[in-house]
Amino acid sequence: MGFKEEIKRRRTFGIISHPDAGKTTLTEKLLLFGGAIHVAGAVKSNKIKKTATSDFMEIERQRGISVATSVMGFEYKGHKINILDTPGHQDFAEDTFRTLTACDSVIIVIDVAKGVEAQTRKLMQVCRMRKTPVIVFINKMDRSGKDAFDLLDEIETELQISVNPLSWPINMGPDFKGVYNIYQKNLSLFTPATQTIQETIEFDDLSNPKLEEYIGDDAEILREEIELVSGVYPELDLQEYLDAKIAPVFFGSALNNFGVRELLDAFIQIAPSPRPCQTVERVIEPTEEKFSGFIFKIHANMDPNHRDRIAFVKIVSGVFRRNTAYLHVRNGKKLKFSSPTAFMAEKKSIIEEAYPGDIVGLHDTGNFKIGDTLTEGEKINFKGIPSFSPELFKYIENADPMKSKQLAKGVDQLMDEGVAQLFTSQFNGRKVIGTVGALQFEVIEYRLLHEYSASCRWEHINLHKACWIKSNDEEQLTEFKKAKFQFIAKDKHGRDVFLADSSYMLQMAQNNYPKLEFHFTSEF
Ligand code: GDP
Repeated sequence: MGFKEEIKRRRTFGIISHPDAGKTTLTEKLLLFGGAIHVAGAVKSNKIKKTATSDFMEIERQRGISVATSVMGFEYKGHKINILDTPGHQDFAEDTFRTLTACDSVIIVIDVAKGVEAQTRKLMQVCRMRKTPVIVFINKMDRSGKDAFDLLDEIETELQISVNPLSWPINMGPDFKGVYNIYQKNLSLFTPATQTIQETIEFDDLSNPKLEEYIGDDAEILREEIELVSGVYPELDLQEYLDAKIAPVFFGSALNNFGVRELLDAFIQIAPSPRPCQTVERVIEPTEEKFSGFIFKIHANMDPNHRDRIAFVKIVSGVFRRNTAYLHVRNGKKLKFSSPTAFMAEKKSIIEEAYPGDIVGLHDTGNFKIGDTLTEGEKINFKGIPSFSPELFKYIENADPMKSKQLAKGVDQLMDEGVAQLFTSQFNGRKVIGTVGALQFEVIEYRLLHEYSASCRWEHINLHKACWIKSNDEEQLTEFKKAKFQFIAKDKHGRDVFLADSSYMLQMAQNNYPKLEFHFTSEF
């Protein structure tokens, strides 16, 4: 197969949802279709149930042993599919944001009874920002939930995207009969089953009285609803989906393995193959001959005896080859990788080469941080992996004077992994850790102790938000920094950060210094 065909047949995507909507279940069913697993229950949920650090650590340890769960690759009908795992817990939303930068498209799972939930809304914001094409899967149709039309309206309003149903449910809950597949003009009848795959019935003319034989009285309702649907929602314009303006919608029940094949079959047809990627310097096309890629995730080994890490690189262009020297653009070093790993469902294996869209795990001894670029020599820097304004802050102090080096190293590496952000106060030189979730402080403390033998102590600091500041007006910038000297810090890259202690203070600053830009993501 040629290079271009390899690119064309790849689909790299993430599944996102509010916890409990059915992301894990859907992932598992997709893997079943791909023959990547053979029994249900094989995919470990990455859910943190007790919101406790111990629980998180347990999950991380399991995942550390089987990092394969980070990326699940499989073959389906001639396509190479890569599903990227995203943490569901809101405290780890930033991990999910970063993983989304490596996704060429996204499937959003929505619980038919609960509709659009908080986490879905947040993640969709990121998709909108990045113009990632999304497909919506409305799950749990075997349970009573919201009316399909109402739900579609809710999605349009809440997620700020137009929708276009490609399948339509026939009743729901205990009376759920199945779905009519508008896209492929066939009928799938529902029978609760978790392991089998339902057959579909070709059915392109709904006025055919045979419909009554299959679904009885619901036939008339279906006809009316489909007529309504075709009136309200014109035929899907693929380009609009690819431009992230319209989200195709499917209905089903992941648990019952129902509607999943329709979803997957449409997905391989319409979802984008690897897309061009923006660097600071220029746009990189996947078909360019020279290899390039970026690190979007770093996975630490939780085993203290093996303190290595795995850096996940998304291949953007060209062919990545084993044992070939590539330029690590940020530090100017050439690096070779003797055991790059690829992930096929449950197992990982060393690969010789990988194509755009693929995710490769690189053994890392501390060279990488999130956002790093690898190339064959060109000095480009991929964009789009911003840090977000943290909202929780604590001073970090060394609790063991004998271990200050270990602490510094640990903090440094954990920040590279993207666990949290470090700010150094320009006022008193103290180090402030900022996070998006409360759990991270416990995670940092635990990991510093177990992986670096360092002890830290947290001290309260009253802060509302950190934002990056910039101005073309040097004078006003200097004036601001002088006036707010107690609240000025540097981030890890030496950029100026304003640590506002209240929303009022932030607002006042924005009003009083109109020539200053206040940024809430690190990339602007
Ligand atoms: P996640 O948090 O989004 O990964 O959700 P899970 O996949 O773990 O599912 C949450 C719960 O919903 C589990 O108990 C599943 O068995 C259940 N579930 C998933 N899909 C369906 C479905 O189609 N119907 C019903 N009734 N339950 C489902």
